Amino acid sequence: MFDHLNSLPADPILGLLATYRADENPNKIDLGVGVYKDEAGHTPVLQAVKQAETRLLQSEETKAYVGPAGTPGFNTAMQELVLGAGHPALVANRVRSAQTPGGCGALRVLAEFADRAKKGATIWVSDPTWANHVPLLGNAGLEIKSYPYYDRATSSLQFDAMVETLKNVGEGDLVLFHACCHNPCGADLTREQWHVLVEMAQKQGFTPFIDMAYQGFGDSLGDDAYGVRLMAESVPELLVAASCSKNFGLYRERVGMAMVVYNDAAAADKGQSQMLNVVRGNYSMPPNHGGAIVESILTDASLKANWEAELTEMRERINSLRSGVVESLAAAGAPGDFSFIQRQKGMFSFLGITPEQVQKLQQDYSIYMVDSSRISIAGLSQSNMEYFCQSVAEVLG
Ligand code: PMP
Repeated sequence: MFDHLNSLPADPILGLLATYRADENPNKIDLGVGVYKDEAGHTPVLQAVKQAETRLLQSEETKAYVGPAGTPGFNTAMQELVLGAGHPALVANRVRSAQTPGGCGALRVLAEFADRAKKGATIWVSDPTWANHVPLLGNAGLEIKSYPYYDRATSSLQFDAMVETLKNVGEGDLVLFHACCHNPCGADLTREQWHVLVEMAQKQGFTPFIDMAYQGFGDSLGDDAYGVRLMAESVPELLVAASCSKNFGLYRERVGMAMVVYNDAAAADKGQSQMLNVVRGNYSMPPNHGGAIVESILTDASLKANWEAELTEMRERINSLRSGVVESLAAAGAPGDFSFIQRQKGMFSFLGITPEQVQKLQQDYSIYMVDSSRISIAGLSQSNMEYFCQSVAEVLG
């Protein structure tokens, strides 16, 4: 039965990682994989997570099933993290959610949920968008179309072109936005632009779907949620896929939240029964450990303060690397203006070089990035910055 299956090409990022690992050059740099790294190149377990785990180990009394939505404590705390405590949609009892296996689990559950509401509904995604959006949303039955977003020629957002395309999108279609720290391009919507999109959603009736994988990695927990919070109080219906992978450093524990804002409480109860039924038919219920860590951190003032301090440290390191790389590229004499890297947010930016130049950096300098020239900023450090910038300058020069 399986003999006729052909093997698929390896995931480009995982393939790149394997080549990087086999490379013996002591100066090698991995800018491919999208996980946060500290100055020493490690992805540490956060102290707040360790503290929460120690407590859980002592206090946990059962491993009995939790249920398809995860715990109420997790959901309440996460809804408040995303929307802010006292948000009008929470007060109006219009919000329902479920803990999911990562942000990916949330995207998939929400896509299947949307497909139940409207079979084969169209979802508009940014060009470019995170590559995994296509299978996560498309395999659930949604039809994917794209709107212009990033202009490679100017290394910036092309908002006018985005609006031009989206102005023809109406009721029954979904539009996917990145809440902050756009993956792969790092170019985020401004507050004014979010307001324009809110007005369009209100007027045209499309349903916004926001992927929030990096809350706290851009400007702050609150600033990064500006668009989500505005949408949630301004439009009748909204889908949000939140991930705890980056901001809690819980990648492999697989923690996220699928959240829906409904028209009213009655619609919310009906909708939630459908969403939990989608969960039941996929993986029945989420794993507990990572969700319990998040709940424990968010519901304890001192753990929460520790976590926020660590999150701030990660964000500030990324932001200082962003300014550092702009300065060092200029100092190394790299031709061109790279100041856009400083204006962009989160883990990623496109360097804006050709695939041939990307290949040359890999072959001659052991600097690894995907062909699109997307770099994972946290892979840089004070110790490899000069080597990286010199190498780029030589390849471009
Ligand atoms: N959305 C985006 C844009 C992402 O970059 C990621 C992580 N790479 C996710 C969602 C989901 O990540 P996870 O399933 O690991 O939480």
